[in-house]
Amino acid sequence: MEIKKYKISSVRNDGTNVKIFTLESTNGHNVQFKPGQFVNLYLLENGNFSIFRQFSIASGPSSAQLEFCIKILQDGKFTSALDKLSIGAEIGLAGPFGHFVYQGQKECVFIAAGTGIAPMMSMLRYINENKIDGEFIVLYTNKTEDSIIYYNELKKLQAENKNIKVVFTLTQETPAHWQGELGRISSEMVEKYVTKSNERMWFFCGPVEFVKTIKEHALGKGAQPDKMKIEGWG
Ligand SMILES: Cc1cc2nc3c(=O)[nH]c(=O)nc-3n(C[C@H](O)[C@H](O)[C@H](O)COP(=O)(O)OP(=O)(O)OC[C@H]3O[C@@H](n4cnc5c(N)ncnc54)[C@H](O)[C@@H]3O)c2cc1C
Repeated sequence: MEIKKYKISSVRNDGTNVKIFTLESTNGHNVQFKPGQFVNLYLLENGNFSIFRQFSIASGPSSAQLEFCIKILQDGKFTSALDKLSIGAEIGLAGPFGHFVYQGQKECVFIAAGTGIAPMMSMLRYINENKIDGEFIVLYTNKTEDSIIYYNELKKLQAENKNIKVVFTLTQETPAHWQGELGRISSEMVEKYVTKSNERMWFFCGPVEFVKTIKEHALGKGAQPDKMKIEGWG
């Protein structure tokens, strides 16, 4: 498998223990990908790209740099080592891979937990940039308001694009000013926000147990099995 050389061009904090990394190709040619796909990122160990993990691309396909939203685990082999690298450090990249892709559907539901928002950011950015007409409903769950990743950008997307609706829900706190939902994404919450369930394309992304539960809720509300794309990790 060909491993292409990239370098870290920026890093910023977002959410809780999450960092947004942008990478740029050392030869100026980014890989081409579809919104929702992932790549293998590699770290150098003794001069070789040996350790790797999969990460969803969060940037839209037209972006000059590739963006990733990565939860840093203190005891995680890859992410704790990545967290120690500086701007300019070399990263290997193979891919893109995966069938969790947005293909122009006009009526979609995106349901994410935590970093599961990463591939959906790529899709939403693509939908917004290309002014795709339709109805795009995002249900996004996090423990606390501070842990919401891409919070400002998601609110801006919703404010500027009448086709995009974002519903945030919190499972571990109730801030005084909070106007979103509270609690885990339930079957009732799905029903409250999603109409025409059987006609829509559904995308679920987050921890494996989360996506299994959401799939059951969606099927229970009439979602069609051939109109579901699921990506689970952790
Ligand atoms: C398609 C795909 C896309 C993904 N996209 C993203 C993304 O966009 N953002 C993101 O943050 N992650 C993403 N992931 C997850 C990512 O690939 C890594 O699994 C994650 O970053 C953890 O890697 P790590 O090496 O830091 O942790 P690891 O060292 O692999 O450890 C993972 C967890 O297992 C525990 N663990 C490690 N070793 C042991 C052991 N011996 N016994 C018990 N427990 C142990 C650790 O405590 C840690 O909590 C994606 C995964 C897939 C499959």
